[in-house]
Amino acid sequence: MSSKDWIEKDYYAALGVDKSASSDEIKKAYRKLARESHPDHNPGDTGAEERFKTVSEAYAVLGDEKKRREYDEMRSLFGSGAFRRNARGGGQPGGMPFDVSDLFGGGAGGGDNRFSGGGFTDLFSSIFSGGGGAGGPARPRGPARGRDVETEVALDFTDAVRGVTLPLTLRAPGVCDTCHGNGAKPGTQPVACPVCHGAGVTTRNQGSFSFSEPCRNCQGVGTIVEEKCPECHGTGGVTKTRTLHVRFPAGVSDGQRIRLAGRGEPGERGGPAGDLFVQVKVRPDELFGRTGDDLTLTVPITYAEAVLGTDLRVPTLDGTVTLRVPPGTPSGRVLRARGKGVVRKDGRAGDLLVTLDVVVPAKVSDEARAALQTFAAQTPPAAREHLDARVRRFS
Ligand SMILES: [Zn+2]
Ligand SMILES: [Zn+2]
Repeated sequence: MSSKDWIEKDYYAALGVDKSASSDEIKKAYRKLARESHPDHNPGDTGAEERFKTVSEAYAVLGDEKKRREYDEMRSLFGSGAFRRNARGGGQPGGMPFDVSDLFGGGAGGGDNRFSGGGFTDLFSSIFSGGGGAGGPARPRGPARGRDVETEVALDFTDAVRGVTLPLTLRAPGVCDTCHGNGAKPGTQPVACPVCHGAGVTTRNQGSFSFSEPCRNCQGVGTIVEEKCPECHGTGGVTKTRTLHVRFPAGVSDGQRIRLAGRGEPGERGGPAGDLFVQVKVRPDELFGRTGDDLTLTVPITYAEAVLGTDLRVPTLDGTVTLRVPPGTPSGRVLRARGKGVVRKDGRAGDLLVTLDVVVPAKVSDEARAALQTFAAQTPPAAREHLDARVRRFS
């Protein structure tokens, strides 16, 4: 006789006595029923045989003070499912709803995600760690953790530099609204697993050792769903569209993967949720480039500006900055505008690196050409002696 029988069977009803019946009344009721249904008095009557078995089973428990007490305790503790099913007078309707999360001190996160604190899994790891060996596979098994979810988001260049909060709409599995994730039909509750009595673990004796292992009947959850939620078919999850507001920190870069713990798929029947991974794509800007926390910008200047020097007013991401180009600045020189790059949350900031690019006009006016010829006549030749030696070798 299993404890499942205890929860499912109403032995008081089987003997036709009240829950408060004295042991004498129980004995009397049993004797009467046993006599009536005894196979010897009812040869060939299978119905009577069944009744006789039921009565005997009931008396084996209720006729024993200790067993009767245990039976009463279990029925009042795990009553919710049992009393609903064979409801008859005397049982507390609905009984006491039983919720494993009470055992595991969850509820910290509130809402549906009762195991988000990880307490449940922790408990299992501590029970099963260091086991192994003869006990067979004692792998930690709580309610299955939800899967991780991957998604991709394209950010504007400026948003990536400054940081931005974006709504992210995901069509992904979520907690079922009909049953709030417990998998039970509305109006019903998951009931304590009759095999492990809600503990999620069973103990097996082998010689002088005893081994704990996750309950096979409830997969270590501690509860079973008797009547499945019609919406999610007992899994506690459905596919739904949800919108998350995701904060991308200032300086997030192209290719970066952002992890949002617990925002992935919900676990089955209250298990911990998976994580959400957001792959960041940064759209290029038409002006600026980026190297780490530095922004880059290329500014064309004329030969005259490079020779004579000038003040350059260049754009930054949120304004302008004036840079001094000293006389005699070579092409390719990089000027630095401090603190005009990516500004991190902690105040650290990159720079704006401005590369000067001396441009050569494709066409010049006659006047410009004449002036340039005058200029050339006044200018020493470019320093090419180190090349000339090599050139002469081939001539
Ligand atoms: Zn559901
Ligand atoms: Zn169980």
